[in-house]
Amino acid sequence: MYNQYSYRLGSETSGIREIFEYGLQQAAIVGKENVFDFSLGNPSIPAPTSVNAAIMDMIQNEDSLLIHGYSSAPGFLDARNAVAKELAERTGTNIQGTDLYFTCGAAPALVSVCKALHIDQHTEILGIAPFFPEYRPFVESTGSRFAYVPADTKDFQIDLKTLESMIHEHTQAVIINSPNNPSGVVFRKETLEQVAAILTKKSAEFGKPIYLISDEPYRELVYDGIEVPWVPSIYKDTIVCYSYSKSLSLPGERMGYIYIPSDMTDAKEVFAAVAGASRVMGHVCSPTLIQRVVARCAYEKPDLEAYDNNRKLLYHGLKKIGYECAYPDGAFYLFVKAPGGDAVAFSEKCKQKNLLVVPSDDFGVKGYFRLCYCVAKETIEKSLPIFEEVFSS
Ligand code: PLP
Repeated sequence: MYNQYSYRLGSETSGIREIFEYGLQQAAIVGKENVFDFSLGNPSIPAPTSVNAAIMDMIQNEDSLLIHGYSSAPGFLDARNAVAKELAERTGTNIQGTDLYFTCGAAPALVSVCKALHIDQHTEILGIAPFFPEYRPFVESTGSRFAYVPADTKDFQIDLKTLESMIHEHTQAVIINSPNNPSGVVFRKETLEQVAAILTKKSAEFGKPIYLISDEPYRELVYDGIEVPWVPSIYKDTIVCYSYSKSLSLPGERMGYIYIPSDMTDAKEVFAAVAGASRVMGHVCSPTLIQRVVARCAYEKPDLEAYDNNRKLLYHGLKKIGYECAYPDGAFYLFVKAPGGDAVAFSEKCKQKNLLVVPSDDFGVKGYFRLCYCVAKETIEKSLPIFEEVFSS
């Protein structure tokens, strides 16, 4: 016997992974250069040289027992202090190392927070479409219910009226993600202020805090000088889930953190509940060498030129053909309207030409497809004529 829920999750691969695996199979048949794979958000710019230099230096010059040993469960305090210092300076706040809980990336951070906020079988956590498809299993695995606010397809901000109407006495939190996967949109400060007003009102109505979980793996990936508002400064009861997977191109190193502001409602208790949730999931003590690396490289920023060039090339190339697309201010995704309206059928049509795109259905909205432009420039250049072919066929 085995757990049916886990079995289902493990045996049904995600739509994105399925397309990615198909691409690998096709590459073996027709050659890698003839497969145009826009399916997976795997960074295509290398980690900054200072990151690799820090790793080499530590391996050669630091105490092996320290860099490869266990740290305390939330991470080395000196490393958390270094990360907090940069964050405090950047956001003009008073973040301390003790407000951070290091995690193995944003995924376990989100699961720990959802588990920490789970009350009973009625507990609900809301997402905002389009959303990262893993939110559903992350939330449901903790015993809570996942529901979502339908997409505001006008500009992919947030349908505030519907958000307000969907919050009830069992709503524990709302997850937001900006810059957004899959739309590439950054939520405007006014949007977030309105979300904050709604949550403040609803928290008062139900006599308990409704938390905002801000999932921010793409925080540093923004273009044209756009600023990503610092959400805890807009809504006090915000928990930030962060990752170095995209900002430092380190997805395989599994490193991120949870930030629980010390002035948040029940901050100490929620921090302890996060620690407890992480403990039972075995996610304590994120990779210790990488903890020390991110501490050393706390001021490092990604070089976004290659992503920015890809973004412009693909966005303008598709617009010229006639595709409709949300303007991407950040991350490395384009969210494009599927010609004919059926995203699954369109993605199948693309697949026949070895053009791999992800239909939007898993993101909670129909009729779009997602493109990850963290690919080689030549992939985009060679794919545009194919996008043109499938547009009108
Ligand atoms: N949240 C979003 C919106 C993502 O796109 C991803 C990964 O693609 C994650 C969370 C998980 O990131 P991590 O690699 O840090 O677990």
